[in-house]
Amino acid sequence: MNGNGRKVVIIGGGIAGLCTAVYALKRGYEVEVLEMNDVAGGLAMSWRRSPYTFETCLHWLVGSNPKGEFRAQWEEVCDMKRLTFVDPAEFVRIETESGEHLTIYTDVDRLEAELLRRAPQDVERIRDLTHSIRVLGKFRMLDPSGGLADNWLNMLRDLPVFPVIGKLSKMSGREYGDRFGDPLLRSFFSSGDIGKMSAIAMVISLAWMHTRNAGYCVGGSQALIRLIEEKIASLGGKIRFKTKVDRIVVENDTAVGVALATGETVRADWVISAADGHATLFEMLGSKYVDEATRKMYEERELFASYLQVSLGVGMDLSKQPHMLSLLLDVPVRVDPGTAMQYLSFRFFHYDPTFSPSGKTAVTSLLSTRNHQYWVDLRKNDPEMYRREKHRIAETVIGALEKRIPGVREAIEVVDVSSPASVIRYTGNWKGTMEGWLVEPGSGFKSLPNTLPGLKHFVMAGQWVMPGGGLPSGPMTAKPAVKAMCKQDHVPFDVREERAELVGV
Ligand SMILES: Cc1cc2nc3c(=O)[nH]c(=O)nc-3n(C[C@H](O)[C@H](O)[C@H](O)COP(=O)(O)OP(=O)(O)OC[C@H]3O[C@@H](n4cnc5c(N)ncnc54)[C@H](O)[C@@H]3O)c2cc1C
Repeated sequence: MNGNGRKVVIIGGGIAGLCTAVYALKRGYEVEVLEMNDVAGGLAMSWRRSPYTFETCLHWLVGSNPKGEFRAQWEEVCDMKRLTFVDPAEFVRIETESGEHLTIYTDVDRLEAELLRRAPQDVERIRDLTHSIRVLGKFRMLDPSGGLADNWLNMLRDLPVFPVIGKLSKMSGREYGDRFGDPLLRSFFSSGDIGKMSAIAMVISLAWMHTRNAGYCVGGSQALIRLIEEKIASLGGKIRFKTKVDRIVVENDTAVGVALATGETVRADWVISAADGHATLFEMLGSKYVDEATRKMYEERELFASYLQVSLGVGMDLSKQPHMLSLLLDVPVRVDPGTAMQYLSFRFFHYDPTFSPSGKTAVTSLLSTRNHQYWVDLRKNDPEMYRREKHRIAETVIGALEKRIPGVREAIEVVDVSSPASVIRYTGNWKGTMEGWLVEPGSGFKSLPNTLPGLKHFVMAGQWVMPGGGLPSGPMTAKPAVKAMCKQDHVPFDVREERAELVGV
């Protein structure tokens, strides 16, 4: 499409900002993405500690199956055919220190057999779970940027799925897990934030894995990010790195550009924020356009926790280990004041050859915490203690791993620990949250408004307008954001027209 003569600045080069750029470029806008970091991706990040690469984000990507749900939307923002996906047979293996174990398989028939082996007393509940997974495997996502005309067919197809969604949306993971007598099965549904979330979140993820539509892409989340960056470049868009936005410039209740931390002003016809929601509303816009409902949401609603990540470069072939291991501990681990964990989880990246030389393995362990302030204060006020605390956490993780895989300690070549302070520094996410708003029972996945009362020429995209977050929230929120802008500018934005354009590419 030729230029339409209007410019948009996009704050944030995470997945949402990048997808917004692609949609805006396709509708003829001049686009400048402003990203404070020196690479794109935000939370969709990995880092290199030679010869290892450590991934923080990607466990699964909904839309990995070329014929699956949501694939078409990914194709709108990048060339998905260039990604290689791995569909693990096992989602996670849960083990106790005394050697009991349960494997959560991705194939539902195999999962059912394993659960019945482990917990025959839970037969009814197990059949109910696997029935839900099979039904949810047929779920068609609705397009939030479309109206009834675009969605009616999927709504019709979803009719048999709605009762299952309704039932699972009302209860928490913990309530769902408590229905099982077996402690390992219970722990799967109730550990960490999964226990607080609506049960639908985990069960639908299992359904996507079963339909091989939630694979891991080789190269991790940065492989996807790089593809979208390439698309932006091919469409003539610009990304400026190390460019922090301080303020959104507003004249006559209309966003007219942004003021950078350097003092420079970048003017534009539209501003789209795909950066942290709290900073956008309460800092960049000085709280001026926050209505009561939004204020209440930011004051009261629960977020996904923040986290520490211990990353280990192990000079050992660990390909016999499961992709993901959850170790239930006899004695809880103290993470920080007020936070203890009853389990430790490990990811063994032997299935990603780009992350380590052959014969070696990148291993990561995530420890959740809501005490982000402890880590921020420590880093600022007592760097030596901060270093010692990170060392203590690494030692705890390595100790547990050594117990499970004797000899592994000797083979560790690289140790890297990031904390909630790192998450905040590198992504700006409020409280160092890993995914924005938690989807709690009853509150659903309903999106927040992407515009603000009284402010013109401003739209939001990203995980802060879509509870539950996740990489798909990038394109899913980018498209309505650009559509809203096009509508006001009388620029055609027709989903069917765009699909036609894509077919023609
Ligand atoms: C540990 C972990 C595991 C996850 N696992 C999965 C998974 O398996 N599958 C999945 O789909 N999702 C997963 N997610 C979630 C997913 O990564 C996020 O929901 C998604 O990446 C959020 O994208 P975003 O663009 O909305 O926000 P962000 O990624 O936070 O991007 C915001 C961007 O804005 C920039 N920015 C902020 N403030 C400013 C400013 N003032 N000026 C300029 N730039 C600014 C930031 O640097 C950042 O790049 C995971 C996340 C984590 C942390």
